[in-house]
Amino acid sequence: MCGIHDLTEHDLQPLTHHPAYLDKIKGMRFFDPHVHMTSRTTDDYQAMADAGIVAIIEPAFWLGQPRTGVDSFRDYYSSLVGWERFRSSQFGIKHYCTIGLNSKEANNEKLAEAVMEILPQFIYKEGVVGIGEIGFDDQTALEEKYYRAQLELAKEAGLPVQIHTPHRDKKQGTRRSMDIAIEHGLDPQMVIVDHNNEETVKEVLDRGFWAAFTIYPFTKMGNERMVEVVKQYGSRNIMVNSAADWGISDPLAVPKTAALMHESGIDSNDIHLVTYANAVRAFAQSGQINESDFGIASDQSEKFNGSTVLRGGQQPRINKNTTIIR
Ligand SMILES: [Zn+2]
Repeated sequence: MCGIHDLTEHDLQPLTHHPAYLDKIKGMRFFDPHVHMTSRTTDDYQAMADAGIVAIIEPAFWLGQPRTGVDSFRDYYSSLVGWERFRSSQFGIKHYCTIGLNSKEANNEKLAEAVMEILPQFIYKEGVVGIGEIGFDDQTALEEKYYRAQLELAKEAGLPVQIHTPHRDKKQGTRRSMDIAIEHGLDPQMVIVDHNNEETVKEVLDRGFWAAFTIYPFTKMGNERMVEVVKQYGSRNIMVNSAADWGISDPLAVPKTAALMHESGIDSNDIHLVTYANAVRAFAQSGQINESDFGIASDQSEKFNGSTVLRGGQQPRINKNTTIIR
C-alpha cells in the first residue's frame, strides 16, 4: 500500500537527502567570501556545513527596504559581529564580516553622514575583515562621495575593500570603481572587485585587483560560465561566491561550482584556489583570519545573551553524516 498515510514525521524532516554532487567534492573545504546569512535559515547553515563550507564573510548591505535611522544601522552592524556570528558557529562555520555603507543607502545624504560617523566603532572589531560592500549602484554623485570617504577609511584602518560593482552599465562602473580606488592610493591587492563577468574580468586582473564572481542561479553568472572563465583566465586572483541574500540565490553556489569544475576537468589545485585559498589570502590581509579557527564544530546548546538555536526539547545535532533525525 502506498499513499499519504504512509508518511511519518521522519519523512518530513528538512535536509534528509544527500545530493549526488557532494560525492564529487568530498573532503574539500570551502570559503564563501560573500553571503548574507542574516537573510538565510538554519537549514541553509546546515546544508552549507554538510557541503564543506568552513568559513564565510558576510558583507554589510542593503536589507531590501531603506532604513530610516542610524540606530537601525548600529543594530545591524552589531548583529553581524554578534548574533549572526554566533548562529554560524553553531553549525561549525567561522563567520567574518565586512562593514560599510552600501551604495543604495549612500543616496540618503543625511543618514549617510550619520552612518559614516558610527563606522569607526565597528571596523576595528574582531572578525571584521574589510570595508564592504561599497561602491556604485546607480553611479550617482552621492554614491561616489561615500565610496571615496570609505576608501579613505579603509586606508586608514589598513583593511581590504570589498567592492560591489553595479549591475547596470557594469563595465563602465567597474572601471570607474577601480580608477577611484587607484586615485585614493589603494594597492589593488587590497581591493576585491565583486560581481564580475566575462566583460570585466580581463581589465580587473590586468590591473592587479582581485576578481570575485557571484554565481547567480538562472541569470547573469551561472556556474557553467564560471567554469569557462577559469579555463580561460586560470585561477590567479579569482574567487567565487554566492552573494546569497533575501532574493532568489543559492548559498551552496561555491561547493556546487567546485563540483562542476571537477566534472569539467579543472585541476583540483585551481578549484582549491578559486573556492577557498584566494579569498583567504585576500581577506587575511586584515590580520583577522586564522585558518585554524575554520570548521570547528561547537555545542548547539551554547547560548548567546541567553538565546540558543535550539527550540523547545530539541537535541543538538551531533553526527551530521547520518540521515536519521530523531
Ligand atoms: Zn552582497
